[in-house]
Amino acid sequence: MTRAVIAFGANLGDREATIAGAVRELAATDELELVAVSPVYETPAIKDAGVDRDAPGYLNGVVIVDTQLDPHVLLDVLQRIELEHGRVREEHWGDRTLDLDLIDVAGVELADERLVLPHPRAWQRAFVLQPWLDIEPDAALTGRGPIAVLRSAATDEVVRR
Ligand code: ADP
Ligand code: MG
Repeated sequence: MTRAVIAFGANLGDREATIAGAVRELAATDELELVAVSPVYETPAIKDAGVDRDAPGYLNGVVIVDTQLDPHVLLDVLQRIELEHGRVREEHWGDRTLDLDLIDVAGVELADERLVLPHPRAWQRAFVLQPWLDIEPDAALTGRGPIAVLRSAATDEVVRR
Protein backbone atom coordinates (compact mmCIF):
# COMPACT_ATOMS: atom_id res chain seq x y z
CA MET A 1 0.00 0.00 0.00
CA THR A 2 1.07 3.54 -0.69
CA ARG A 3 0.37 6.51 1.52
CA ALA A 4 -1.08 9.53 -0.29
CA VAL A 5 -1.75 13.01 1.06
CA ILE A 6 -4.74 14.89 -0.38
CA ALA A 7 -5.52 18.53 0.40
CA PHE A 8 -9.07 19.86 0.25
CA GLY A 9 -10.32 23.44 -0.01
CA ALA A 10 -13.72 25.07 -0.47
CA ASN A 11 -14.67 28.73 -0.60
CA LEU A 12 -18.13 28.77 -2.19
CA GLY A 13 -21.48 27.36 -1.11
CA ASP A 14 -21.96 25.28 2.01
CA ARG A 15 -18.28 24.64 2.60
CA GLU A 16 -18.66 22.28 5.58
CA ALA A 17 -21.21 20.14 3.76
CA THR A 18 -19.08 20.00 0.61
CA ILE A 19 -16.00 18.90 2.55
CA ALA A 20 -17.94 16.34 4.57
CA GLY A 21 -19.38 14.96 1.33
CA ALA A 22 -15.96 14.80 -0.34
CA VAL A 23 -14.43 12.96 2.62
CA ARG A 24 -17.36 10.53 2.56
CA GLU A 25 -16.82 9.91 -1.14
CA LEU A 26 -13.11 9.30 -0.67
CA ALA A 27 -13.91 6.85 2.13
CA ALA A 28 -16.47 5.10 -0.10
CA THR A 29 -14.01 4.65 -2.98
CA ASP A 30 -13.12 0.95 -3.15
CA GLU A 31 -9.45 1.45 -3.97
CA LEU A 32 -8.86 3.92 -1.12
CA GLU A 33 -8.59 3.38 2.59
CA LEU A 34 -8.98 6.47 4.74
CA VAL A 35 -6.15 6.72 7.27
CA ALA A 36 -6.68 10.18 8.82
CA VAL A 37 -8.66 13.38 8.37
CA SER A 38 -7.22 16.64 9.68
CA PRO A 39 -8.90 19.43 11.57
CA VAL A 40 -10.33 22.14 9.32
CA TYR A 41 -8.82 25.63 9.03
CA GLU A 42 -10.29 28.93 7.94
CA THR A 43 -7.93 30.71 5.52
CA PRO A 44 -8.09 33.76 3.25
CA ALA A 45 -8.26 33.30 -0.54
CA ILE A 46 -4.90 33.53 -2.31
CA LYS A 47 -4.87 34.69 -5.93
CA ASP A 48 -2.04 35.37 -8.36
CA ALA A 49 -1.66 38.85 -6.84
CA GLY A 50 -1.57 37.52 -3.27
CA VAL A 51 -4.16 37.45 -0.49
CA ASP A 52 -7.60 38.53 -1.72
CA ARG A 53 -9.72 39.65 1.22
CA ASP A 54 -12.67 40.46 -1.06
CA ALA A 55 -12.99 36.81 -2.09
CA PRO A 56 -14.86 34.43 0.21
CA GLY A 57 -12.58 32.64 2.68
CA TYR A 58 -11.62 28.99 2.41
CA LEU A 59 -11.97 26.01 4.61
CA ASN A 60 -8.86 23.87 4.15
CA GLY A 61 -7.59 20.57 5.43
CA VAL A 62 -5.84 17.34 4.56
CA VAL A 63 -6.78 13.67 4.23
CA ILE A 64 -4.34 10.76 4.27
CA VAL A 65 -5.26 7.60 2.38
CA ASP A 66 -3.69 4.24 1.67
CA THR A 67 -4.05 3.14 -1.92
CA GLN A 68 -2.47 1.06 -4.68
CA LEU A 69 -3.81 3.37 -7.38
CA ASP A 70 -1.38 4.96 -9.76
CA PRO A 71 -1.06 8.70 -8.97
CA HIS A 72 -2.77 9.67 -12.26
CA VAL A 73 -5.72 7.41 -11.50
CA LEU A 74 -5.88 8.92 -8.04
CA LEU A 75 -6.04 12.36 -9.69
CA ASP A 76 -8.93 11.05 -11.85
CA VAL A 77 -10.77 10.09 -8.66
CA LEU A 78 -10.19 13.53 -7.12
CA GLN A 79 -11.33 15.34 -10.27
CA ARG A 80 -14.48 13.20 -10.49
CA ILE A 81 -15.36 14.14 -6.90
CA GLU A 82 -14.65 17.83 -7.65
CA LEU A 83 -17.03 17.68 -10.61
CA GLU A 84 -19.72 15.94 -8.58
CA HIS A 85 -19.64 18.96 -6.30
CA GLY A 86 -20.39 21.28 -9.15
CA ARG A 87 -16.94 22.64 -9.59
CA VAL A 88 -16.64 24.77 -12.72
CA ARG A 89 -13.10 25.43 -13.94
CA GLU A 90 -12.69 29.11 -14.65
CA GLU A 91 -9.91 31.46 -13.64
CA HIS A 92 -6.63 30.03 -12.36
CA TRP A 93 -6.85 29.87 -8.58
CA GLY A 94 -10.45 31.08 -8.88
CA ASP A 95 -13.16 30.62 -6.27
CA ARG A 96 -14.42 27.05 -6.15
CA THR A 97 -16.91 24.85 -4.40
CA LEU A 98 -14.25 22.17 -4.02
CA ASP A 99 -10.55 21.83 -4.78
CA LEU A 100 -8.85 18.48 -4.22
CA ASP A 101 -5.09 18.48 -4.73
CA LEU A 102 -2.66 15.61 -4.59
CA ILE A 103 0.13 16.78 -2.29
CA ASP A 104 2.36 13.75 -1.96
CA VAL A 105 2.29 10.10 -3.00
CA ALA A 106 4.92 8.17 -1.04
CA GLY A 107 7.59 10.72 -1.88
CA VAL A 108 7.36 10.10 -5.63
CA GLU A 109 8.69 12.88 -7.85
CA LEU A 110 7.10 13.33 -11.26
CA ALA A 111 6.01 16.13 -13.55
CA ASP A 112 3.88 15.90 -16.69
CA GLU A 113 1.05 17.90 -18.32
CA ARG A 114 -1.51 16.64 -15.81
CA LEU A 115 0.33 16.04 -12.59
CA VAL A 116 3.24 17.42 -10.62
CA LEU A 117 4.36 15.59 -7.46
CA PRO A 118 5.00 16.56 -4.79
CA HIS A 119 2.54 19.43 -5.29
CA PRO A 120 4.79 22.33 -6.34
CA ARG A 121 3.40 24.90 -3.89
CA ALA A 122 2.57 22.73 -0.87
CA TRP A 123 5.95 23.34 0.77
CA GLN A 124 5.16 27.02 1.33
CA ARG A 125 1.46 26.84 2.19
CA ALA A 126 0.49 26.83 5.86
CA PHE A 127 -3.06 25.87 4.84
CA VAL A 128 -1.66 22.54 3.64
CA LEU A 129 1.26 22.09 6.05
CA GLN A 130 -0.58 22.87 9.29
CA PRO A 131 -3.43 20.36 8.89
CA TRP A 132 -0.96 17.76 7.56
CA LEU A 133 1.28 18.36 10.58
CA ASP A 134 -1.72 17.82 12.87
CA ILE A 135 -2.18 14.27 11.60
CA GLU A 136 1.37 13.29 10.56
CA PRO A 137 3.90 15.29 12.60
CA ASP A 138 6.96 13.40 11.32
CA ALA A 139 6.15 13.80 7.63
CA ALA A 140 8.57 15.28 5.11
CA LEU A 141 8.23 16.58 1.56
CA THR A 142 10.67 15.14 -0.97
CA GLY A 143 13.31 17.72 -1.77
CA ARG A 144 12.02 20.18 0.84
CA GLY A 145 12.44 18.52 4.21
CA PRO A 146 10.34 18.05 7.34
CA ILE A 147 6.93 19.64 7.15
CA ALA A 148 7.33 20.92 10.74
CA VAL A 149 10.23 23.11 9.59
CA LEU A 150 8.39 24.22 6.44
CA ARG A 151 5.30 25.06 8.51
CA SER A 152 7.33 27.34 10.80
CA ALA A 153 8.56 29.29 7.79
CA ALA A 154 5.16 29.66 6.10
CA THR A 155 3.49 33.01 6.68
CA ASP A 156 -0.06 32.64 5.34
CA GLU A 157 -2.81 32.78 7.96
CA VAL A 158 -4.60 29.69 9.18
CA VAL A 159 -7.18 29.73 11.96
CA ARG A 160 -8.37 26.45 13.38
CA ARG A 161 -12.13 26.03 13.27
P1 ADP B 1 -5.15 24.83 -8.34
O1 ADP B 1 -5.40 23.58 -7.52
O2 ADP B 1 -3.69 25.08 -8.62
O3 ADP B 1 -5.83 26.02 -7.81
P2 ADP B 1 -6.78 23.52 -10.32
O4 ADP B 1 -7.41 22.78 -9.18
O5 ADP B 1 -7.70 24.22 -11.29
O6 ADP B 1 -5.77 24.61 -9.79
O7 ADP B 1 -5.84 22.51 -11.08
C1 ADP B 1 -5.32 22.79 -12.33
C2 ADP B 1 -4.62 21.54 -12.88
O8 ADP B 1 -3.52 21.21 -12.07
C3 ADP B 1 -5.42 20.27 -12.89
O9 ADP B 1 -6.17 20.14 -14.06
C4 ADP B 1 -4.36 19.16 -12.76
O10 ADP B 1 -4.19 18.44 -13.96
C5 ADP B 1 -3.11 19.93 -12.47
N1 ADP B 1 -2.26 19.38 -11.41
C6 ADP B 1 -0.92 19.25 -11.51
N2 ADP B 1 -0.39 18.73 -10.40
C7 ADP B 1 -1.44 18.51 -9.55
C8 ADP B 1 -1.50 17.97 -8.25
N3 ADP B 1 -0.40 17.56 -7.57
N4 ADP B 1 -2.74 17.91 -7.66
C9 ADP B 1 -3.83 18.33 -8.33
N5 ADP B 1 -3.83 18.85 -9.58
C10 ADP B 1 -2.63 18.94 -10.20
MG1 MG C 1 -6.54 21.83 -7.63
